[in-house]
Amino acid sequence: MKRRQTKQIKVGKVGVGSDYPITVQSMTTTKTKDTEKTLEQVYELASNGADIVRVTCNEVDAATSLIKISTRSPVPIIADIHFQYKLALAAIEAGVQGLRLNPGNIRDEKHIKEVAKEALLAEIPIRVGVNAGSLDKDIAKKYPESSPEALVESALKEIRYLEEVDFYNIKISVKHSNVPLMIEAYRLLAEKVQYPLHLGVTEAGPLPGGLIKSVAGISTLLSEGIGDTIRLSLTTDPVDEAKYGRQLLEYLNLRDRKSLDLIACPSCGRAEVDVIKVANEAQESLEKKGFPIQVAVMGCVVNGPGEAKSADLGIAAGRNKGHLFIKGQVVKVVDEKDMVSSLVKEAELITNEGIEARLAAADKDAAKIAQEDAEALIDIQGDINNFKLKSKSVVEITSNEDIDT
Ligand code: SF4
Repeated sequence: MKRRQTKQIKVGKVGVGSDYPITVQSMTTTKTKDTEKTLEQVYELASNGADIVRVTCNEVDAATSLIKISTRSPVPIIADIHFQYKLALAAIEAGVQGLRLNPGNIRDEKHIKEVAKEALLAEIPIRVGVNAGSLDKDIAKKYPESSPEALVESALKEIRYLEEVDFYNIKISVKHSNVPLMIEAYRLLAEKVQYPLHLGVTEAGPLPGGLIKSVAGISTLLSEGIGDTIRLSLTTDPVDEAKYGRQLLEYLNLRDRKSLDLIACPSCGRAEVDVIKVANEAQESLEKKGFPIQVAVMGCVVNGPGEAKSADLGIAAGRNKGHLFIKGQVVKVVDEKDMVSSLVKEAELITNEGIEARLAAADKDAAKIAQEDAEALIDIQGDINNFKLKSKSVVEITSNEDIDT
């Protein structure tokens, strides 16, 4: 997908804009004044995929803590500011790598400009973070109903204040909890500014609905090239936000794979094993090891290796056996009870030795055994793969001149 061209900014060492990979953000849930606990969560978020972490700066003690947090954090720290502009000034002084201001609740133009001037000196960006629930009062009067126009106008008003003091180190978000409305707001904004955009569905809620809403809104925009950084605002452990955000970008091929991608067939009447159980067990064991590969769990050897041939590694069940395959080629046949353990072992070998080496080390008889098992199952269950042959016959029959039309 072609990215919308934007201005490039830096949040600490992390580039944000169309020249850089799309980044994942999350936010801590600890009290920021508890420096150690907050740092512990920041590390956890970073190791699960967050490129940038936001922390609230809601009191003087929080701002003081930010001195240590922003120095010791492995990723850039953004201070989230509501209402009190002086806390923004304190956070800049503490050394944060970015600020998020809510245009709905720091309303005094003088104060906004004062913060922007200090951020300019500190060379840190400001995110204008518009939120449907806290719009600028004048704008909320003008648009009594929530609308994309209201969100965008609120952002543009704030940006004008920043630009008036020559501050252009900006990214913007116009979040809403209503997915179609959020999508429209970002589309509208993308036409009006060149600043990078931070995407999110605000107050998306707990799993699974929150995840579905976030993925629907964010993916739609990303597929149109809109969006430079994302947050999945979920009512769950923030580690999930970071992890799912990262996975979303990997599944869309927008970031290199760092985590496991477990694919599995949905199972059907042909399944020779409890696919849901095996897939869940495989996911749990492989995820713990952190192998950055695609692994397939398939319910039958008749279709499994072929259907999942793009996977790095997979296993397909049949006749009380597991047929282990690499890029569609069966390399080993194991007992059904050993399916998960052999997948984990092979995943480790692939990670260490590479796919070519493991294909070269394939058991000589494995492909033959798999073929025999598949044929035996076809004998019992019938061949759903001879569809083409059957279709051809049907076409031939219907084109026969003897048939009355
Ligand atoms: Fe059914 Fe086999 Fe396809 Fe799984 S791989 S959905 S069991 S035909």
